[in-house]
Amino acid sequence: MANCVFCRIVAGEIPSTKVFENDEVLAFRDIAPQAPVHVLVVPRKHVDSVQGMEEAGVAAALLRGVAAVAEKEGLKSFRTIMNTGAESGQTVFHFHAHVLGGRKMKAMG
Ligand code: 5GP
Ligand code: ZN
Repeated sequence: MANCVFCRIVAGEIPSTKVFENDEVLAFRDIAPQAPVHVLVVPRKHVDSVQGMEEAGVAAALLRGVAAVAEKEGLKSFRTIMNTGAESGQTVFHFHAHVLGGRKMKAMG
C-alpha cells in the first residue's frame, strides 16, 4: 500500500533495525521504544488490522514472529500488544504486534 509506513519499511524504502524476518513477517525495533526491548512484528503483506485479516494464517505467522523475537532478544517474559482502531492507540494502520520486554510491566489500563 503506497502511503503505508510499514509497507515502506518492508519494501526497504524506509530504514529500520531488523530483529527477525522470514517469508511472512518482518520484525524491527520501534522508533520510539516504550521499554528496553520494543520490537514491532508486521506481516509483509498489507492488512489494516486484525479486523481486516482475511486469512487466519496471518495471525499464526505474526505470533510465530513474536516468539522468534522473544527468543532472539532473550526475553523470558514479555508483553504482546495489538492495537485496533484509533481509540485503542493504533496509529499505523498496517497490522502489527508490539513485543515489549526488559522491564516490569504495569497493570493493564
Ligand atoms: P500503534 O500505535 O499503531 O500500535 O504502533 C505504531 C508504532 O509504530 C508506534 O509505537 C511508533 O513508535 C512506531 N513507528 C511509527 N513510525 C515508525 C517508523 O518509521 N519506524 C519505526 N521503527 N517505528 C515506527
Ligand atoms: Zn502496509
